[in-house]
Amino acid sequence: MVPQSYYRCWVEVDLDALRHNVTAIRRRISSANPSPRAAEGRRPQLIAVVKADAYGHGLAQVASTLMQCGVDAFAVANLAEALVLRHVGGSGWPVLLFGSALPFEVAKIVEQNITPTISTLDEAQLFEIEAALQSKTVPVQVEIDTGMGRVGFWYKEAAEQITKLAALPHLRIEALYTHFASADENLAETKRGLEAFLGVAKQLNLGLPLHAANSAALLNLPEAILDAVRPGLLLYGISPTKRPTSELRPVLTFKARVALVKDVAAGRTISYGQTFVATQPMRIATIAAGYGDGFIRNLSNAAQVLINGQRCPVVGRVTMDQIMVDVTGLPSIKCGDEVVFIGRQREAEITASEMASWAGTIAWEVLCGITKTARVPRVYRGASAA
Ligand SMILES: *Cc1c(COP(=O)(O)O)cnc(C)c1O
Repeated sequence: MVPQSYYRCWVEVDLDALRHNVTAIRRRISSANPSPRAAEGRRPQLIAVVKADAYGHGLAQVASTLMQCGVDAFAVANLAEALVLRHVGGSGWPVLLFGSALPFEVAKIVEQNITPTISTLDEAQLFEIEAALQSKTVPVQVEIDTGMGRVGFWYKEAAEQITKLAALPHLRIEALYTHFASADENLAETKRGLEAFLGVAKQLNLGLPLHAANSAALLNLPEAILDAVRPGLLLYGISPTKRPTSELRPVLTFKARVALVKDVAAGRTISYGQTFVATQPMRIATIAAGYGDGFIRNLSNAAQVLINGQRCPVVGRVTMDQIMVDVTGLPSIKCGDEVVFIGRQREAEITASEMASWAGTIAWEVLCGITKTARVPRVYRGASAA
């Protein structure tokens, strides 16, 4: 392996910050939970959302740290991710699949005791047949669609259908859940979704555990905490809303190096399309990363990066492998200097959310978009780093 001092572009993952965030989320959900079940001594469970390679942080390493911190369960998008968790943690961990299973995945899901999300009676039947074949009882979770329109039984018809599902002998319903469409932007609508969900649970009256809250609902609507929460972004130390989350620590830092420094005269143009023209003599640094590494092209002429603790603007278009920044104010800059795209450098900090706003997207997409090939190695730090 190439030593880190030779990396051109890389991600650092602080596993101590991840542990810290788990503790902070635990503290928040146990103090804020108004559910009557809390009175029965049941603390809300923490389902760690580790889909999309743990939001770009690296699924295996993040999951093994979370297993040591004692989260209660994991949620992933698909079977391939669930199998990584089985590989890392063995057969004991509850693993919930958010995405609908494809018919050819059903046998493997049952064999591995992975918990699928069920949205239709047809899907339930496939699992019932497979479970009977394997002489097993399959744990399933049933999603209620309260406005997201993605997966789940539409809440108005849900009680009747779930009653039929509950009668299938080889399925065991572990929980009912819903997913909010607008928890980060519309509190009234989120409350309506929660009421619709609780209405279905009440009609069914099966005494099943309930969960609903993603990161935004966990922060904005404490009554949605229920029997479990499903934070993703918060685990990684990033706020899903404009409200800062000072109790959390960002886990990921995205870095590259200065590859070339040069002085350009007024009138010179920079990068494809020549969208940037130097209006005065400038010093320009070429950085060894581009959209091929996850520095998205919409950041052209729009982002800043940190060099020597200073914010430096990106000039011209982002190219696949290189970007240019204005370092006119940094006379001591040299080839090989560290550049921070996301994270802290001395007193300065750029968050994933800030980068997302420059690019006209969301922090989730910025994190998932950091390239996961040999171009961008992940370096793990902290007590549990291997
Ligand atoms: C991705 C996802 C989450 C986590 O969302 P965050 O906003 O990152 O907390 C929770 N529940 C479901 C169903 C999801 O798809």
